[in-house]
This record gives sequence, C-alpha cells and structure tokens, in this order.
Amino acid sequence: MTTITVIRGDGIGPEIMDATLGVLDAMNVGLQYEFADAGLVALEKHGELLPAATMDSIRKNRIALKSPLTTPVGEGFSSINVELRKRFDLYANVRPAKSFPNTKSRFPSGVDLITVRENTEGAYIGEGQALSEDGETAVLTQKVTRRGSERIVRYAFELARKTGRKKVTVVHKANILKSTSGLFLRTARVVAAEYPDIQCNEMIVDNTCMQLVMKPEQFDIIVTTNLFGDIISDLCAGLVGGLGLAPGANIGTDAAIFEAVHGSAPDIAGKGIANPCALLLGAAQMLEHLGMNDKAERLRAAIIATLEAKDSLTPDLGGDGSTTSFAKAIASRI
Ligand code: ATP
Ligand code: MG
Repeated sequence: MTTITVIRGDGIGPEIMDATLGVLDAMNVGLQYEFADAGLVALEKHGELLPAATMDSIRKNRIALKSPLTTPVGEGFSSINVELRKRFDLYANVRPAKSFPNTKSRFPSGVDLITVRENTEGAYIGEGQALSEDGETAVLTQKVTRRGSERIVRYAFELARKTGRKKVTVVHKANILKSTSGLFLRTARVVAAEYPDIQCNEMIVDNTCMQLVMKPEQFDIIVTTNLFGDIISDLCAGLVGGLGLAPGANIGTDAAIFEAVHGSAPDIAGKGIANPCALLLGAAQMLEHLGMNDKAERLRAAIIATLEAKDSLTPDLGGDGSTTSFAKAIASRI
C-alpha cells in the first residue's frame, strides 16, 4: 500500500484536510497516511517550523498532501512553502484552471488550462538583492539557467502528451529581458522541436494577460518562468471562480507536494465554513500523479455534480453548507 505524508497545516488547514481525507476514504483509494507537522502548529509543538521528522517523512514517502501553512514573521525563512520547494527541488508548479458550474465566475464554461510554472529560479532566488546604503536604489538579480528552463519546458510537453493536450504556449518577455527571458525562450524552442505532435506557440507575458481575460479558451498548457507563472496562475484561478477552487502541485524528481493554492484563511478558521474543493482538487492531482487516473476523474466528476446540484455549497460559493456537509455531499456522489 502506498503511504503519503499528510500535513494538516494551520488555520482552516485541519478542517479542509479532514474533509478531504474523508472523501478519499469514501473512494477507497487505498492510501496510508503518515501525519507530519509543519508551520505554526509545528513551531508550537516542536519549536521548529519544519521539523526534521517532517522532512524525513516526505523524503521517504515522496508524496505529500499539504494544507496551508502559516509562516510567522521573523522565524528563519520568509515562507515555509518556498522553503519546501527549495529543499526538495520541486521545480514544477502545476496549476490547473477549469471552469466549474455555479461559482459566480466570469467564465462558468470554456476554460480548461494548466499553468506550468518554473518553481526554483527567476526572481525567487533571493540572492544578489541589494539596497544601496542610502536606501534610494534597489537591485534584484534574476537567474535563468538552460538546465532549469529545459526541464520545466520538457515537463510541460510531457504533461501535454500524458494528458492528451494539444498545445503548449511559452510565455516570456524576451523582447525586454533579453538575457533571462531570452535564454528561457531559446531553450524552449529547442525542446519544442522534439515534440512535433504538440503545437507550440510563443506569447509575450503582457499580451498573455490580455488574451487570458478576453479569450481564455485558446489556452491549453502555459509554461513560463517563476514570477510570470505566479501572477498568471492567480489570474487563471480568478477566471474560473477564485481561491476556493484552485489546486496546485509542486513536483520534483524525488518528491511531490500537492496542495490548495489559498492560504490558511485565519479570518474563517474554526468556523467550519471553509471550502474544501481546492484541497480536494489537489488530491485529484495527486491521484493522477500516482497513476490512479480513473479515481482522479471520479473525484472531479463528483465535485462538478455537487456544484451543479448546488448541494451544501459553502458560503464563498453562495451556499449555506459547511465544510463537512459539502464534503459529505461530494462523497455521496463518488
Ligand atoms: P495566509 O496568510 O495564510 O496566506 P491570507 O488570509 O492572506 O492567509 P488566504 O488564506 O489565501 O490569504 O485567504 C484570502 C481570502 O480568501 C480570505 O478572506 C479567506 O477567508 C478566503 N479563503 C481562502 N481560502 C478559502 C476557502 N478554502 N474557503 C473559503 N474562503 C477562503
Ligand atoms: Mg495570503
């Protein structure tokens, strides 16, 4: 039996994780859970945000399902999520955005795309940042490597093949950022040539934002560098109904961590009204990663059917259901 590491997290984390595991159990996915602490909870219990036992558990199981974590200011790292990506070299951030019914979004249909964001380089390296002594000038170094670009673009094309998608859009700003974005684009062209069965086009990031808002149905898979991917994937989440429905996967060679994109939502924590769908959809990505494509599809279909029936939807979706009743409604449709 496959064992996964489960991190229940902070804020609404435990509530949406319990709901998610309940649905997985209703499906008999046959996974064993090893619980590990991270974030505020870990700091309180073990005096560390990211205990060695948690790192060991992820290293051993190679798969983790993770709820949102709070990173207190001034506790070692700027973000535990970023730290996890770094430690496990989780280079691909994969964020699907798909239209769902009854979400009050601008695109209740027609959007079905995946953003593949480079997760380890670009503007996020945190090196070479400098503020002049008088505090009047700031400089940021971005790093793009051929290796980093190659592996993320290859990931995008392989994902297209695996999921039967037809087109990869390489998003860049090589006209202005000639060195960094230029290297990314040139590398992408070389990789794309190895996939004649997948259509490839190039798009400048500013135009991409406009196109996404006006004609999102033209996109299939988007692959881009770290900062552009950060912004674009949030834009895409907004197109299809917001944070409560946006999952993400962080994938590396030796480990993969599946999560909801949203944060710990301290404003609604403990009230039992958090929408569990983002984490459930993250779990669906995890099932796919584990080769359980049929189960992933059944889970997604149950979520869609529940949204269609407006059965026990949480308040963020305009319903008066609770985290638990919504999850039960989903489980009943599996
Ligand atoms: P953090 O500091 O952990 O990032 P945050 O409050 O900055 O937390 P989010 O947790 O992402 O950011 O929340 C932004 C808003 O969206 C909040 O008002 C929150 O209540 C709402 N929200 C986020 N996730 C959910 C969810 N799963 N269900 C319902 N509302 C949510
Ligand atoms: Mg936040």
